[in-house]
Amino acid sequence: MRIDLHTHTNRSDGTDSPADLVQRAHEAGIDVLGLTDHDTTEGWSEAADAARRTGGVRLVRGIEISTRYAGAGVHLLAYLPDPTHPGLVAELERVLDGRNSRLPAILERLGALGIDIAASDVRRLAGDAAALGRPHVADALVERGVVQSRDEAFVRYLGPSGPAYVDRYAADLVNTLGLVTAAGGVSVIAHPWAGRHDHRALDGAGLDALKSAGLAGVEVDHQDHDDAARAELHRLALELDLVATGSSDYHGSGKIDHDLACNHTAPEQLDRLLEMADRSSAAAGRTAPQVVGGSA
Ligand SMILES: [Zn+2]
Ligand SMILES: [Zn+2]
Repeated sequence: MRIDLHTHTNRSDGTDSPADLVQRAHEAGIDVLGLTDHDTTEGWSEAADAARRTGGVRLVRGIEISTRYAGAGVHLLAYLPDPTHPGLVAELERVLDGRNSRLPAILERLGALGIDIAASDVRRLAGDAAALGRPHVADALVERGVVQSRDEAFVRYLGPSGPAYVDRYAADLVNTLGLVTAAGGVSVIAHPWAGRHDHRALDGAGLDALKSAGLAGVEVDHQDHDDAARAELHRLALELDLVATGSSDYHGSGKIDHDLACNHTAPEQLDRLLEMADRSSAAAGRTAPQVVGGSA
């Protein structure tokens, strides 16, 4: 059983269409696929149609929400929330607006460095994406030959310590945990101890406090966690009775070293997560999106 619960399409900053993602997951032998584009559900229906058509792949629909906690950025994976919940819809809109509105400021800073990128180029490279993000600016820098890769663009220009970095609106983590619960979904913190995030607030005590605020699990097996971080997070998840997931964070060709199913989630952990999602939607009185596809 291969379970990969965190992937992206070109509706955010991945490169595959939602239908192509499902097809590739099928070819990679994945049984359960989580679709979790950044701050948008735009890819959901196309992916669900593809999962029903393709068979074999069961699709768990989710969103990776950009939040902030104790002054640091935290990515929150929200699985199976009702996408029509008004509070959740409004918060996602604010996050997407924040992304779009920072583009001019980033381009202005690049211009001051003598690198002229037109907003229209970024828009063209973003294609069907719900919001223009830094990865699309990175693509424009690659196209210009300023850098060789998205990674280099982030290190040299766009990352928090880069000269073209611009802060933006992020949802409050605790508030977002409440919204996901109210929308009948379940929450898992994505790559809590990835290097670029300040994880001091996400230690055992922090995770325990977040569990009280509605957190269901943590993503343990992720490319941005080394062996020691994975071992310690597994131990903490067990101690705090949090679901432990593992995922690729696949972005198509938009991110190297994140191949589909390079990490996966244990079946019993998925079962727990889906049971919690069932209970959450029943308690919230919301109609949750169903897990679709698969031969079973
Ligand atoms: Zn992330
Ligand atoms: Zn991601």
